[in-house]
Amino acid sequence: MVNNTRTSETTDFGAWIERDVWLDKVLQATNARYFRGQAKSRIGWGLPVSPVIMDRTPDGLPQAPAACWREHEVLIHPALRDFKAPRYVIVYLIYHELLHELHPGPPGKDPHTAALLLLEQERIAPARERAHAWLRKREFPVLRLPSDAPA
Ligand SMILES: [Zn+2]
Repeated sequence: MVNNTRTSETTDFGAWIERDVWLDKVLQATNARYFRGQAKSRIGWGLPVSPVIMDRTPDGLPQAPAACWREHEVLIHPALRDFKAPRYVIVYLIYHELLHELHPGPPGKDPHTAALLLLEQERIAPARERAHAWLRKREFPVLRLPSDAPA
């Protein structure tokens, strides 16, 4: 379906990113509910790769379902739009990416192992199990924690 209200832009870090009013509303709601509105990130569909890859669903190696860039841009993989990802999946991904902004952890270390506040709050992420199941079914990688039961 064509939505003429969409706008796309190229960010300062060279990513193609497509703004979306709905995504922005979900980010604002997630930020307000879980983080008292403290996060400053913007959001869009996209990944820091070429527009050619961006426009397709992943048919080779799956890519991360979401990413953030310099703690100020949350990028949601556009395949999730094609798959009509439920809102709880998007909320979970936004929650995770906002944790990166709010709890970056020690510089130079992988936040997925070294940012302890991030890991603590990831454990209690909204609808985490359901969102992981939905993503895994579509071959997206998900973040496993040492406390998780085996997949
Ligand atoms: Zn992450």
